[in-house]
Amino acid sequence: MKRLACAAVFKRFGNRNVMTPLRESEIALVKAATRNPLELRSRRDFRAALEQALHHVLVALHVEDRFGALRSQISEDRWFRALEQAWERLEPPARLQSWQELLDRLIRISYASRPYCLRCGECCRGGSPSLHEEDKDLWSQGLLSPRELYTLRPGEPVHMNVEGRLGSLPEELVKIRQRPEIGHCIFYQEEEKACRIYEHRPLQCRVQACWDPGPFEELWRAGKLSRRHLVQDDQEMLELLGAHDERCSPEKLGAAVGAWHESGSEAAIQQILDQLRYDTALRSLVQERLGLGEDELEFYFGRPLIRIVRAYGFRVERDGNGTYRLVRDT
Ligand code: SF4
Ligand code: SF4
Repeated sequence: MKRLACAAVFKRFGNRNVMTPLRESEIALVKAATRNPLELRSRRDFRAALEQALHHVLVALHVEDRFGALRSQISEDRWFRALEQAWERLEPPARLQSWQELLDRLIRISYASRPYCLRCGECCRGGSPSLHEEDKDLWSQGLLSPRELYTLRPGEPVHMNVEGRLGSLPEELVKIRQRPEIGHCIFYQEEEKACRIYEHRPLQCRVQACWDPGPFEELWRAGKLSRRHLVQDDQEMLELLGAHDERCSPEKLGAAVGAWHESGSEAAIQQILDQLRYDTALRSLVQERLGLGEDELEFYFGRPLIRIVRAYGFRVERDGNGTYRLVRDT
């Protein structure tokens, strides 16, 4: 059942990145643009395709002027030379495997040739940072507020770039908002190619170095900031968050969808609807009672379950009496 749910997630949720991508999209493009290694019959073909692949990587990194230097470096590299010598004798499976390794090496060498930030903005266009404990001051100093943030609660179906897989989010994340549809961080200014809060950018942005993912990955394993860290002095809000998570959460929604996949029963559908109704009702109630703006709700209560359920291949319709109906999203 889990596999079914996961396939639906992949189809409908592919563009949500939990962390800023390490230029994954461009790397994928480079790999797709290079020739099929099984068509490279001679060493000459191999050499030409290698140089073409190197050119693609350097263009993606905006450093095509390094082509000559890196081509010489590769010509003297023992691993590349050995592969070139052996190429014509390799069986197809070995060719495919070696070509994959060759591309990975080209990408690594190219990144290493440019160990500084070009301020190209690619990482700010590809997503937004999650906050860490060190970012708490940005909140206490009023530099970040609920209007600029949103929460992903545990259990949300997401694409996790560090692990390179789809799955359920294991822990809560508070993130800077992204622009709808295009996914850019809201602080990214396209025309100036600049960050509006550069001097106060979160820790994740400060360690971001697309040529060296190490510090980023280490940070990713460190303590994340949660809503409760930020509202710890607001007892009423803490109780509301607790009641909301207890009654309806992405984890519970995922479990209810799983139960539906297994049984296909009406009771399972009602469980899903019950979660959606509670989530929607609580949001309107707190808007009314606490005077919270619509744009603050996604920080306090995470993304609406009505939206999350679409990742599982459902959408919600409401009839004239306000009654919810779950429809398979085709
Ligand atoms: S770290 Fe710098 S060079 Fe790399 S993608 Fe981000 S802005 Fe561009
Ligand atoms: S906060 Fe600034 S540096 Fe960080 S992703 Fe957004 S625009 Fe880029």
